Amino acid sequence: MAVALIVAAGRGERLGSGGPKALVSVAGRPMLEWSVAALREVEAVNAIVVALPPDRLDAAPDGVIAVAGGETRSASVTAALAAAPAGAAAEAVVVHDAARALATPTLFAEALLELERLGVDAVVAAAPVTDTIKQVADDGRTVQRTLDRSQLWAVQTPQVFRRDALTRALAASPDLIAGATDDAWLVEHQGGAVAVLPASAENFKITTPHDLRVAEMLLAERSHR
Ligand code: C5P
Repeated sequence: MAVALIVAAGRGERLGSGGPKALVSVAGRPMLEWSVAALREVEAVNAIVVALPPDRLDAAPDGVIAVAGGETRSASVTAALAAAPAGAAAEAVVVHDAARALATPTLFAEALLELERLGVDAVVAAAPVTDTIKQVADDGRTVQRTLDRSQLWAVQTPQVFRRDALTRALAASPDLIAGATDDAWLVEHQGGAVAVLPASAENFKITTPHDLRVAEMLLAERSHR
């Protein structure tokens, strides 16, 4: 059995929606509800906790556990984990960004299966990088080197953890947590084993108005299938 934590407490300023990004309507329903609907179709998931902006707990879909998010994404994950029903150390915890509204039930289920099959601490959805990536100096112009693209993966959510590994990771020092751009990095930093699960680039994070238009098209297409 697994619990799922959806973080939806961000302000989403780059989207310019004037309100919390996760509550912006996409193809007829609030962005957050696409992930909730996908997770409801995953048999192994028996509870869904959603971290929302503290003044928008009313926006929680029926049947989920709603909790006030924090100032940072990690603080929101921590708050959601604290509100999750107690579970065994080896229980799986799915962490997902509401901003990835295109994640499918199959992707969640595969991530959970892989965690079990590989016996690792975390499995993260990721897509191979298709652009050439260059490292640029502090001056913002001078190319220092070109990275080997064959080894680079763009990491997404869902990220699925053994519950004890995630709990330990989130207990790291505030400095470390402040510098972490994802929860799996904290597990890596503590010497934990993290594996990628190849995922489609279609599972992108809705960040800009352009992303919102693309998501709108793709999700509208899915609902008419
Ligand atoms: O800002 P960004 O798109 O990177 O945020 C990723 C996810 O983390 C979003 O779903 C957002 O709602 C969530 N988040 C949160 N609490 C914060 C900041 C971000 O739940 N304080």
